Amino acid sequence: MTSHREQTRRIYLGSVPVGGGAPVSIQSMTNTVTGDVESTVSQILSLERAGCDIIRVSIPDEGAAHAFAEIKKSVHIPVVADIHFDYRLAVAAIDGGADCIRINPGNIGSAKKVEAVARAASRAGIPIRIGVNLGSVKRSILKAYGTDRVGALVENARQYVAMLEDMGVSSIKVSLKSSDVLETIESYRRFARICDWPLHLGVTEAGTLFSGAIRSSVGIGALLLEGIGDTIRISLSADPVKEVLAAKVLLESIGLRKQGVRVIACPTCARANADVASIASEVEDALKEIDKHLVVAIMGCVVNGPGEARIADLGVACDKGGAVLFISGKPSRRIDASEITKSLMDEIEKELSK
Ligand code: SF4
Repeated sequence: MTSHREQTRRIYLGSVPVGGGAPVSIQSMTNTVTGDVESTVSQILSLERAGCDIIRVSIPDEGAAHAFAEIKKSVHIPVVADIHFDYRLAVAAIDGGADCIRINPGNIGSAKKVEAVARAASRAGIPIRIGVNLGSVKRSILKAYGTDRVGALVENARQYVAMLEDMGVSSIKVSLKSSDVLETIESYRRFARICDWPLHLGVTEAGTLFSGAIRSSVGIGALLLEGIGDTIRISLSADPVKEVLAAKVLLESIGLRKQGVRVIACPTCARANADVASIASEVEDALKEIDKHLVVAIMGCVVNGPGEARIADLGVACDKGGAVLFISGKPSRRIDASEITKSLMDEIEKELSK
């Protein structure tokens, strides 16, 4: 279904392609103190294991810029340096090996300062991500667009892209954000019509794990289904590993990735013969770092259980006293109620080692 993708140019962050038909990459952002190299590296390594493709790190001061170079040496995925206000920090991060710089040209200051960043990025051969959000759109543009806030955001981003292109930058990606989901969707739609640089999708200040995952899935998911978007971040006020796991589920749900284990679990009802939620959480948690694509069904009774378990790679349909284990769609054997999770995990291990 989601085969159509808007054609964007391809850029590279390190060895990770973004745009031009490349798989939609998953991003996250560290929330450690960047100057604390050990904690930041440890968080990035956890994110790598969870399936993060690109990580962004804030550089709020000189100490962070200095730490950045150290962090870069110990991690394996491309690192984007996130800079606000001080162009010298951007230049320092580029010298420290950044794979991309994220700036909002609007808060970097004069064109001369932006140009210093543009020159350094071009010299290093790395892309610049222009990140614009509604809160920081130039006043003059806001005034000109009146109530059309989305139009103002799109025009502001267009102007920044043109400015960087004029400065000789040949690798750009763009994000346009509002904390309002519908405004975000409309902004990306309109921008995608006038610009072919790859787009980084996100809903800014999305919220807590629960509401943020929903808001981001609606915003990012709607755009991806229209073929818009080349790299995504689900922003959550939570452990960033959860952002990556949520992004994996989102991409898998709309057919843009076939990696990882998909756990199908019934919501349970009065017919349920087992604690489906606990079994599903345990299995999902144990398998979150697995790359192989596998569908596992955990169903509470024999009404829909056998049907779902049959179309999964592995499944259990619980009944009184235990469950029927399905392997490759066929009933394999009965298992005891106390053994459901263990038997399922054993079979999954076997499947993964094939
Ligand atoms: S599979 Fe059975 S227990 Fe689960 S929701 Fe459906 S009817 Fe209820």
